[in-house]
Amino acid sequence: MKRLLSEVYLHLIAGVIALGILGISAHTLWMDRLGTWQEAEKSSRNVLTTIVRDLDSNLELLDLSLKGAMEGLRHLSSQQLSPDLKYRMLFDRAVSANFMASLLLIDRNGNLIADAGPVIASRSLNVSDREYFTVHRNTQHLGLYVSRPYRSRAPDGDLTIGISRRLSDADGGFAGVVMGSIALNTINQRFEHLSLGQQGAINLFRGDGILLTRYPFDESQINQELGGSPHVQRLLKDKSGTFDSVSPIDGVHRIISFGRLEKYPLVLTVALSVDEVFAAWERKALVLSLVTLVLCCAVVGLTFLFQRELRRRTRAETKLRRIARTDDLTGLPNRRAFRETFEREWRQAIRSGSALSLLYIDADYFKSFNDRYGHGRGDEVLRAIAGTLDASIRRPRDIAARYGGEEFAVILPETDLTGAMRIADAIRETINAMAMAHEGSPYHIVTISVGVASAQPSRGHERNTLLEAADQALYQAKAAGRNAVRSPGEAFVPSRTSLPDAAA
Ligand code: GH3
Ligand code: MG
Ligand code: MG
Repeated sequence: MKRLLSEVYLHLIAGVIALGILGISAHTLWMDRLGTWQEAEKSSRNVLTTIVRDLDSNLELLDLSLKGAMEGLRHLSSQQLSPDLKYRMLFDRAVSANFMASLLLIDRNGNLIADAGPVIASRSLNVSDREYFTVHRNTQHLGLYVSRPYRSRAPDGDLTIGISRRLSDADGGFAGVVMGSIALNTINQRFEHLSLGQQGAINLFRGDGILLTRYPFDESQINQELGGSPHVQRLLKDKSGTFDSVSPIDGVHRIISFGRLEKYPLVLTVALSVDEVFAAWERKALVLSLVTLVLCCAVVGLTFLFQRELRRRTRAETKLRRIARTDDLTGLPNRRAFRETFEREWRQAIRSGSALSLLYIDADYFKSFNDRYGHGRGDEVLRAIAGTLDASIRRPRDIAARYGGEEFAVILPETDLTGAMRIADAIRETINAMAMAHEGSPYHIVTISVGVASAQPSRGHERNTLLEAADQALYQAKAAGRNAVRSPGEAFVPSRTSLPDAAA
């Protein structure tokens, strides 16, 4: 029971340690994961803010050029100027808009009036089919309009978006458009130096969900209408935010920060691949998990080793204790065990108010047996007596012990004097019946004498009195001629089996 309990504690402690290790590493990893996630959100937002500001200010410069050209055109209609001056008037502000690929003034029929290229009015061009033209012709108060990407008609044929404003005549009728174009390359170049990883992405959407451009650039993906995807709807609805989602464009799971440009109907997203963000964390998690596993295995292994050692020790201790309480020659409990049992039974008898009896047994004329037959034969006789005693006691709590030399003692709990006398006599008879030759004894066989004492122990009752009484009774049995059973105070009655020469 004690062993079981200590093993339960052992496993409990090992369990707590293992759980502790697991808990600490799981918590560490979890906190680290949260930190990594927040870090990624923060850096994507920082990149977003930078680009949004850059786009905002460049678009503003471009818009100023458009407005400058519109103003110039109003003055121009009343004056006749040299082409050079006319050009300066129209496109003076356009110089500062380094975003711009070209700036065109278009009349109501879609024909080019002037452009800000180096060669003035040297080309004829009709753009009446372009989106940036038709929307303004069809709608009056659009203000600034950002077109879908289209391929420029210039010789290099770059992909371009047009930023346009409507020209109105004095009555507010459609008089054409002024349009600044931006090559998508120009925008994309600004994304290239940002470190977003292999799978990072930047998307520029128009307010209605058309993908204007994207980094890394892929022509097949731009100009798509993505306003229907819930992912994009979310971008268009909120002003700014961060979330994670699987991209409808390339299926990569990303952490996405998005925000609107301040003055233009454009939405920008900066997205970092979740796999890339967590690559370092995953390596760390793997290492930490392995270390945790090894530690837990070590705890479990050590527990089992410890348990084995504990069991081995407990077994050894039990064995030692048994040896320390057992008589070598006869295998009976020894004097120490007798004392312990006697103490215990005495207290138990006090508690239960029952009788406790004691037999002292001593082999008769044993010195002379040894002298005649030798010590070896003497030992055999002692073993035979021990065997008889052991066989004569029946109740589980009865014990027979070797008290010392050729003396034995029997404790009989819950047995009164009459019962004890009966058992004592039965033992004596059995030894007689064994008829072990002993020519040195007047009986010619090995005999024993038994002193019997019984008590009803109570508090304050000296336990030694029972021991002394048994001793006393044994003395009386010896005095009665040996091969006899006596209890204290019994008058000297020569045993029936006493032989005439025994008294001599
Ligand atoms: P009594 O009838 O009065 O008991 O006489 P006794 O000779 O038995 O008594 P005594 O106490 O004088 O002698 C005890 C003898 O028991 C002494 C010793 O030779 C013998 N003896 C004690 N222990 C052992 C033992 O372990 N083995 C053997 N063979 N003999 C023992
Ligand atoms: Mg003796
Ligand atoms: Mg003796």
